[in-house]
Amino acid sequence: MFAPALTLLAMLLPATSALAQTGEEITVQRAGSQKPTIGAAQNFTGSVRVDGPFRGSAPARVSGGTVTFEPRARTAWHRHPLGQTLIVTSGLGLVQHWGGAIQEIHPGDVVWVLPGVKHWHGAAATTGMTHVAISEALDGKTVEWLEHVTDEQYRR
Ligand code: MN
Repeated sequence: MFAPALTLLAMLLPATSALAQTGEEITVQRAGSQKPTIGAAQNFTGSVRVDGPFRGSAPARVSGGTVTFEPRARTAWHRHPLGQTLIVTSGLGLVQHWGGAIQEIHPGDVVWVLPGVKHWHGAAATTGMTHVAISEALDGKTVEWLEHVTDEQYRR
């Protein structure tokens, strides 16, 4: 009775789950084990670095990284199809949605950006900022990049 039930359970489970592929129930991605990436000039203004990029294994759709902006550095305008969470860990940051006021964000602040909302985020003019950025992919995409944030837009 018990064994057939287990067999049925095995049949119902996906044959190629992420756990089956890695054999790891828990993965610890060690600090410094991932090479940092530099924010591409077409998507960012100024110096931006992403440390510790992470991605959940399928069927999870979550991914992100720890993003560090030098003073005045910022993303271009962009949208996330399923929204984005930002957790500020150091410095002083700025965030704005299209048509809204620029808001200061501080260490410990948690920012949620609604799906499809055009926005940017980055560092203040006189100090850098680091945040953890987390988003989910829709059809394999987590972001739609748009035009740069001009100096005039940044100053307001
Ligand atoms: Mn964003």
